[in-house]
Amino acid sequence: MKRILILGMLSLYSLFGEGITSTLSLNEEGSLSMENEQKLNAVIIELIEKAIEGQQKAYAPYSNYLVGAAVYTKSGKIYSGCNVENASYGLTNCAERTAVFKAVSNGDKEIEMIVVVTKDGGLCCGACRQVLNEFNPKMQVIAIDQDKEIKFRGTLDELLPYAFGPANLEITP
Ligand SMILES: [Zn+2]
Repeated sequence: MKRILILGMLSLYSLFGEGITSTLSLNEEGSLSMENEQKLNAVIIELIEKAIEGQQKAYAPYSNYLVGAAVYTKSGKIYSGCNVENASYGLTNCAERTAVFKAVSNGDKEIEMIVVVTKDGGLCCGACRQVLNEFNPKMQVIAIDQDKEIKFRGTLDELLPYAFGPANLEITP
């Protein structure tokens, strides 16, 4: 039932960021074809499932704020992550960065989308926004709560405008 509800919600969205278009091409009218829209929805649903699987592995004995994340790369692969806290609090790693580091360490650095799940649909912290920016300022970001309700959907550059990134150092990663 939940899955049907989410698909219904997603079909309301007609605009997609640049991040996903390299694998889901636009038609002549500039919108996604039904086939691609279905593919996009399938990717999002799989990302949601993987993010939730990641959240179930969260190591968060101090905050009890369990976070899961899943990134989708241009190669079509998905990498999930969870937050990993530490008794020395500053050493804690967020779920988003765990997922990104897994992708990059597997040679997959072209990130097109990230789904983050928390109990309340909380968004990526500032540190994670900066790390995500390194690998695609236009990536799609979706934040969902524990009921799989989408609390935010947009592009990373909406969350981190005027970012400092590789271009400032005249680097094209
Ligand atoms: Zn973070």
